[in-house]
Amino acid sequence: MATNTGYRVISEMSYEPSPANCGYAGQTLYVNIGTGEIESRPVTQEMKDKFVGGRGFGLWRLWNAVNNDTKWDDPENEIVIGAGPIGGITTYAGAGKSLVVSLSPTTGSVIDSNVGGYFGPYLKFSGWDSLEVQGKADKDVIVFIDGDNGSVQILESVEKDLNTHILSERLAHAFAESDAPRDLLAISTVSAGLGAQHTHIGCLNFSFFDMKRKIPRVKQAGRGGIGTVFRDKKIAALVVKYSGVRPDSNHPADLERLKRAGERINKEIFELDSSQCDMRHIGTTHLVEIMNEYDLLPIHNYKFGSHPEADKISSPVWRERFTQGMPDGCWLGCTMSCSHAVDHFSLKTGPYKGTEVTVDGPEYETIAGSANMGIFDPDFVLEMNFYCDTYGIDTISYTTAMAFAMECYEAGILNEESTNGLDLHFGNSEAALTLLHEMGRGEGFGAIVGQGIRKIKKLFVNKYGADPAFLQDIGMECKGMEYSEYVTKESLAMQGGYGLALKGPQHDEAWLIFMDMVNNQIPTFKDKAEALHYFPMWRTWFGLVGLCKLPWNDIEPADNAQTDEPAKVPEHVRNYCDLFAGVTGVKVTPNDLILQSERVYNFQRVFNLRMGYGRRKHDAIPYRSAGPVTQEEYDSRAQRYDEQLREKVGIDPEGMSTAEKVKALRAFREEQYEKLCDAVYVRRGWTSDGAPTIETLKRLKIDFPEVVEIVRPYQ
Ligand code: SF4
Repeated sequence: MATNTGYRVISEMSYEPSPANCGYAGQTLYVNIGTGEIESRPVTQEMKDKFVGGRGFGLWRLWNAVNNDTKWDDPENEIVIGAGPIGGITTYAGAGKSLVVSLSPTTGSVIDSNVGGYFGPYLKFSGWDSLEVQGKADKDVIVFIDGDNGSVQILESVEKDLNTHILSERLAHAFAESDAPRDLLAISTVSAGLGAQHTHIGCLNFSFFDMKRKIPRVKQAGRGGIGTVFRDKKIAALVVKYSGVRPDSNHPADLERLKRAGERINKEIFELDSSQCDMRHIGTTHLVEIMNEYDLLPIHNYKFGSHPEADKISSPVWRERFTQGMPDGCWLGCTMSCSHAVDHFSLKTGPYKGTEVTVDGPEYETIAGSANMGIFDPDFVLEMNFYCDTYGIDTISYTTAMAFAMECYEAGILNEESTNGLDLHFGNSEAALTLLHEMGRGEGFGAIVGQGIRKIKKLFVNKYGADPAFLQDIGMECKGMEYSEYVTKESLAMQGGYGLALKGPQHDEAWLIFMDMVNNQIPTFKDKAEALHYFPMWRTWFGLVGLCKLPWNDIEPADNAQTDEPAKVPEHVRNYCDLFAGVTGVKVTPNDLILQSERVYNFQRVFNLRMGYGRRKHDAIPYRSAGPVTQEEYDSRAQRYDEQLREKVGIDPEGMSTAEKVKALRAFREEQYEKLCDAVYVRRGWTSDGAPTIETLKRLKIDFPEVVEIVRPYQ
């Protein structure tokens, strides 16, 4: 059997596409690429009440799919993708996020990642709140969901080049009705390239068709190696086809309410964005100069926080490089339009050398990751960004793992013999690209670094005799996932923001550096614990409903600073209550939104426990994220640290050696982190070992017997 697309059909299911109602399609799609099974599963009222949608639905489906011993590369592991109930509206900025959940090859536990592009909304409008992909195929397959005609197919892939910039373009043309842009717009794909296959830090690329450039572009679900799971299952791509998105495709309960909220945010964006973050012209790149100024930009594997050459890769450079005047929203109707791109970039290395390409981005994290390797060359940033994306490699994990390897090289742990001839001194952009291409091919030292910091720490100890304690201190990973790109040494709350994040050190749970370090708004442990309760819960909510976080606080009402709690952006929180009620018809208060998140957040913590993680020891952080590991780091901020010893620790540093001062400061800071954990666990309703108490589960109404059974031993 062959489709009109030319691929052999392995398995197929027809269905009657039903329109979404009040934000929900009412069913999820299960596809087993190993057995060929395809089925529809109902969305119950209890699922909506307890898990809301998006990440919540993903966690619930995954929970029921795996057992306590499932590993990331077992067939029963799933990749679950879905929008949330608000996902897909076009009347408010930033409503096109997809949420992805799986068991991670880097952490061994459950991972969630959010991403732009059109896949999640198209999936829902095709009739599915989520897609679960389970099993493992023998040969590469494509899963095709045709929401226009009501069919789901597992197809045998014949694609030769799996790298995303080639594959997403090929598939858009193969699955669209014609090559007309309006037909190409109806296609969204998910893919991961060969780097995802050959490393453990693979990302997923979600496409959207750029009507001005007339090409598919991609956004990444970057964290935790879900692209690696995808390729391990031998999935070449997921394709969804849906035409005719309209402002009321969600069939919202109150479209006028959504429109009014949309008018408010759009007015702010058009009037204030250029004088605030200027996201519409420079996106997240404005953070480079801010972080550099406040000593927060990671330099040389997070040793330092600023660098005199940072201006070479700061936002004025990107304002010049980004192709301006394009509508750069990664979902329809997003007036914030921050997903910029650089067109006509000529590649200088690798398998596509000499080709002119469009580079999606760069975003702040990718640029800061380059600084972390000591590289301040915008051409390098673009080349690295492009190849990471097309190979399906997470730029954050790549740059952080590379920075670690570079420090090991400079410390004499590695040499040219161990790196297969690569000189890995900080700043060597040629070596960094060579190694990236090795990851793409699964060869050489690149394939080793691509296993991620946690695994290569062990290797460097066993093979090269490295000191495990030193590697533990400088290897910037927690729970097995590489840190994203902020220096946290001077912000205890942000150390917690990373260390206490459920999935690992990613800033999308809590970003508290300015509240804590710069503005001193949360001075006590109680204040910090409150912030580490509220903000992770709040940010979790975006992932439940399918929203992008950026229009929450990267644009602010003109009078926001005069409100009681400017960090929460109260007016926007009210907008979000309007959005939820306007779509679902369920009235909510700001506290209700937090409660929705708290349920899912605690459920995810229990899920971590179920998989053998989620305890206090798993929230431990590398000392580099809390303070100076080396004398060189101490000396670089000697005045500040001496002052802290005097004022905070009560020790006179006069006459002490630097080594003694490092030790004294470390004892103090490590104790502070433990006290922070104590305070946060209490605020969250967890035991001192970090497990949710049974009372907390009862309060949140998630005390299902199988959930209680997991936490009982830790009470
Ligand atoms: S704000 Fe930026 S990242 Fe968020 S949805 Fe809009 S364009 Fe995409």
